[in-house]
Amino acid sequence: MGEHHQDTELIHAGEGAATAARAVTTPVYSSTTFSFDSASELEAYQQGRSTSYIYSRYANPTVQAVEAKLAAAEGGAAALVLSSGMAATSTALFGLLEPGDEVICSAAIYGGTLQVLTSFLARFGVTSRFVSMEELGQLAPVIGPQTRVVWFESPTNPTLRCVDIASVTSACRARDVVSVVDNTFASPAYQQPLSLGADLVMHSATKYLNGHTDVTAGALIGSKEMIDRLQPARKLFGGVLEPASAYALGRGMKTLAVRIARHNASAMTIAQWLESHPRVSRVFYPGLDSHPDHDVARRQMRGFGGMICFESRDGQAGAVGLFDRLKLFLRAASLGGVESLCSLPVLTSQYGLSDDQLALAGVTRGMVRLSVGLEDPRDLIADLSQALS
Ligand SMILES: *Cc1c(COP(=O)(O)O)cnc(C)c1O
Repeated sequence: MGEHHQDTELIHAGEGAATAARAVTTPVYSSTTFSFDSASELEAYQQGRSTSYIYSRYANPTVQAVEAKLAAAEGGAAALVLSSGMAATSTALFGLLEPGDEVICSAAIYGGTLQVLTSFLARFGVTSRFVSMEELGQLAPVIGPQTRVVWFESPTNPTLRCVDIASVTSACRARDVVSVVDNTFASPAYQQPLSLGADLVMHSATKYLNGHTDVTAGALIGSKEMIDRLQPARKLFGGVLEPASAYALGRGMKTLAVRIARHNASAMTIAQWLESHPRVSRVFYPGLDSHPDHDVARRQMRGFGGMICFESRDGQAGAVGLFDRLKLFLRAASLGGVESLCSLPVLTSQYGLSDDQLALAGVTRGMVRLSVGLEDPRDLIADLSQALS
């Protein structure tokens, strides 16, 4: 028994011991608040003269440890981790835009991003223009006097079209427009948009960054000035990540490079195998010579990632049949985890679109999307082989 009554000891006993333990990993600092020795120490904090913490919604040591990894991964000066990819997207957009501003957004964009722009930002006087791959490729004449942000993804979902990032960002720089790249599909292991001139990188860290299908998180990475500009938005909108989830994300990120190398090697093998299969009419993988953006991908990526899209020669019935016959690939949305997943774009990301809208998105009813996991690729090919026959 310590020097206080038991109820008091229950609260204070053992706390703070981890700091002296010389732990190799940053522990989960689940504390929501942090204490000060004196009024003058608190005043120093308020005046920005100390690096201590006050409240976990503002900053937390476990969260900061994973932010340092995110910044390092993307070659940025600073990063913010948030409670989901959508928290990152909405925090960035609301943090950057004012009434009267215009966003130019790729038409091939994550559905949630499109909805934030059309359903929410529109209510606050921000207009959005959705542009084709061709317009993104020749951006200078598309940028208008009110354009403040250009937002795009590369590779895109599901056909893995690649945008020439350096060309978009140089057109943005010439007009003082903020360029934002959703780098979720490529992961920073193989593509670093900041080095290609982007102002901000956004991630659904739920996918490759965490890599184990058990954390929902998002990230924003950029210069110190950019992150300082967005930090108040995260603090006040409140989309912070819980320390326990931040710890798990940081653990996942330690193996990013080796995971991506395996995802990439297996996906290349599977894409080549699919391309020679008689029941497959087309394979979309940026690493294949046949992909329309193979040259762009080779220029700006160090590898081509773990996502593959292919088209059944037997249309939607063929795609549905093989989907239902899979035994190892799991029928699930999302991507980037150790487990191989399969989805049908017309039943997930492009659900409910008309034939015209599908054509605009370059999506057909016979398309199948794979997120190639870390299983032995021979087992994955055997599963696809039995499902396709
Ligand atoms: C999943 C995803 C998002 C949204 O991220 P959440 O973590 O689900 O909020 C945004 N962009 C892309 C490309 C995604 O795949």
